[in-house]
Amino acid sequence: MKNIPGHQSVNLSDVFLVARGVQSEWMTMGAAEEKFERDFCKIAGSTYAIALSSGSAVLHCAYAAIRIEPGDQVITAPLTFAATATTAMNLGGVILFADVRPDTGNIDPKSVEALISPRRKAIVSVDYAGRPADMDELMALGKKHGIPVLDDAAHSLGSLYKGRQVGSLGDITALSFFPTKNITTGEGGAVVTNNRDFARKARLFRSHGMVRDKEFLHNTSEGPWHQEIQSLGLNYRMPDLLARLGSSQLQRLPIFQKKRKQVFLGYKEHLSHVPNLMLPVHHPESDPMWHLHLLRVDPLIRRAVFEDLRAAGIGVQVNYIPVNSQPYFRELGFTPDSTLTPESIIKEKFLCPCSQTSVPGR
Ligand SMILES: *Cc1c(COP(=O)(O)O)cnc(C)c1O
Repeated sequence: MKNIPGHQSVNLSDVFLVARGVQSEWMTMGAAEEKFERDFCKIAGSTYAIALSSGSAVLHCAYAAIRIEPGDQVITAPLTFAATATTAMNLGGVILFADVRPDTGNIDPKSVEALISPRRKAIVSVDYAGRPADMDELMALGKKHGIPVLDDAAHSLGSLYKGRQVGSLGDITALSFFPTKNITTGEGGAVVTNNRDFARKARLFRSHGMVRDKEFLHNTSEGPWHQEIQSLGLNYRMPDLLARLGSSQLQRLPIFQKKRKQVFLGYKEHLSHVPNLMLPVHHPESDPMWHLHLLRVDPLIRRAVFEDLRAAGIGVQVNYIPVNSQPYFRELGFTPDSTLTPESIIKEKFLCPCSQTSVPGR
């Protein structure tokens, strides 16, 4: 097997589409962005898609859309990139870390249920390494307790869960188009939802809480120049140039899918004889587009495995150092095992590196 570190794939058709946009009238807030959103809805099996400037902007926007306010408690998994938690904290949200399942690394619905009380305002799943979380169980919990489920699907665009597309599984879904993710726009992301109210709120947050649509203005007697700031927001818009790249990349998603599957099978074959490595377990309910190729090793040999794989040209990384053990979280009083059940302390020490699958060759 040829070892190529994971790399984004941008081909001539991507370049051509972007180049055509450089001189177009609208470099931002134009038709390309709207087209990308329509294209995205088809892929995600959703009614609304809102393109944004990064995956972290997407999470921030999604938390605003579901109305996370100071003191609201958000239950999520520690085995994720920090932004899953920190963007909610930027709105004053308080994070509770639930446990993860030892076989998938995804948030454990049983652990979520144990944390639910009247002050909980959201359940946030992370589709770790590309495998969708236990969305049916999480959605049932959300419904039972009247709280929305946000799916951080930064890893899982293109994956299926019980035959259903990622993007249609949670009340609201967050995607990232950072270069390592399943498609890229350099920086970028999208909020996806079937909920009209969430979509409207996310759109407002993306662009300064500014309203121009007559239907929603407070003052309707002004002229056509009139616009209103109706809530707090930021500038999280995706430029049209990047939206063009996004539309082009989406067309190539089936090729990326095929390539990632090949790489996954290649790793499986070549690594299955290596002692002390735990490879991803097959679960019939999901057909993941693997964003990471999860390898679990005993911490005692982690450094040796890491260095051997890097020397062989395979771009491994520890994904992730659990968020609750990061220095900022320690300062806030989290401990490596805080809010986790004792069972998980063992798991946490065990869930270590994963190697990123190589992405379609250049
Ligand atoms: C990449 C990632 C993000 C953040 O996305 P950016 O586009 O890098 O801002 C959030 N959550 C998870 C799980 C990620 O992997």
